[in-house]
Amino acid sequence: MSGRLIASSALRHELIRFVVGLLAAALLGWHWHLSWCFMLIVASLNWLRHVYALSKLRLLMQARALHQETAPATYLGALWEEVLTLIIKSWKAEERARHRLENVIERARTSIAALEEAVVLIDGRGNLEWWNPSAERILGLKASDRNQQVTNFLRDPRFVDYFKAGHYSEPLHLPSHIDHRRHLQYEITRFGSNDRLLICWDVTVLHKLEAMRKDFVANVSHELRTPLTVLAGYIEALQDQGDELPLRWSRALAQMQAQTQRMSYIVNDLLTLARLETTRTRALPGTVDVPAMLHDMRQDALAYGADKHQSIALDMDEQLLIHGVEEDLRSAFMNLLTNAVKYSPDDGHIVLRWYQDDAGLWFVVQDNGIGIDPRHHTRLTERFYRVDPGRSKASGGTGLGLAIVKHVLLNHHASLHLKSALGQGCQFSVLFPAQAARRR
Ligand code: ADP
Repeated sequence: MSGRLIASSALRHELIRFVVGLLAAALLGWHWHLSWCFMLIVASLNWLRHVYALSKLRLLMQARALHQETAPATYLGALWEEVLTLIIKSWKAEERARHRLENVIERARTSIAALEEAVVLIDGRGNLEWWNPSAERILGLKASDRNQQVTNFLRDPRFVDYFKAGHYSEPLHLPSHIDHRRHLQYEITRFGSNDRLLICWDVTVLHKLEAMRKDFVANVSHELRTPLTVLAGYIEALQDQGDELPLRWSRALAQMQAQTQRMSYIVNDLLTLARLETTRTRALPGTVDVPAMLHDMRQDALAYGADKHQSIALDMDEQLLIHGVEEDLRSAFMNLLTNAVKYSPDDGHIVLRWYQDDAGLWFVVQDNGIGIDPRHHTRLTERFYRVDPGRSKASGGTGLGLAIVKHVLLNHHASLHLKSALGQGCQFSVLFPAQAARRR
């Protein structure tokens, strides 16, 4: 505002100066009848002054390009002095802002450099742009790798797929490419115009702990199997005594039998989970005849819930098969189906669907049972998570069914979707990638 005021007063001053000059020239010239000539001379001199001022401005620009200090020329008149002062002022302000920014960038750079994690900047074309010293230690990056494609450097097909797919909501775990005994976790975040920030942690210790946990659960479950079988055998033998036992003993034995049964279900589910989690024990995939499997499963589920008189309808593409592990798919589908039976009322209706659309292959289990409040949806696949523990135990649930489903789907690159509300039944949908489809 003040700049504009000064500039306008300087402009007025400049105009007055020009008009007074012209009038003086006209008066002086009048004496010799050469008014126009004198006025022309004054106008030309003024024009020359402006040309000189412009050349001064050019020099000023050059001086800035050379980062030289320069002062406005006072003898060029108020207007030019003002213009040059304003330009120099704005440059100085710009310079200060640039210094501040450089300072911030430098501090960010040094703090990133001090991080334990490897931080790598990848440009929009997927080239390695910048990294911190930890990236050299953890990933083995060298100065000569700059501007190389990140996928030329990290060639593991799992990383290449992860990087190209562009879905970075989950981190990726891989053995290190420079030392196979170490395990790394990769996380990618997008920023700017398709630039990416890759952060990589050495998670070897966590990985070892996780492997120990898996081994421990698998070993304990395995060790529990034999004593459980022995216990179940003795209980059964005692129960066979029938009438010879006192009533309170037969009640206790019935309880013991139910609890050992439940324990053996839990042990079996824990062993299934342990097997699904370990790559080396996973079965090999083949072509699975899902329609035939669903026909069998329907019969088993009807027998399982025989006293509930529920209906189970099948709506399937009979020609549609899938590439996968039959045993695991059967276990996952059966868990979803038995849940529908367990958590639906007597005379309930269950529908199983199996079809393909543009998104991929769908396996859907729909029931009209008790439903699940949406606040539980995200936690359902956690081990031993139950919406209503009492009801789950009463219906013979182990709390591991949906955890098994999750692991089977993970191994098949499939995802689980749930539509449900309390009292409105459940629709569990499994989506498999279209590449898994096979036809009869
Ligand atoms: P559980 O062995 O207890 O059934 P799951 O892991 O299979 O364990 O399921 C977790 C919880 O999700 C169950 O305890 C139950 O509360 C809820 N649930 C699963 N399926 C259904 C369903 N079809 N209808 C209502 N609730 C369900």
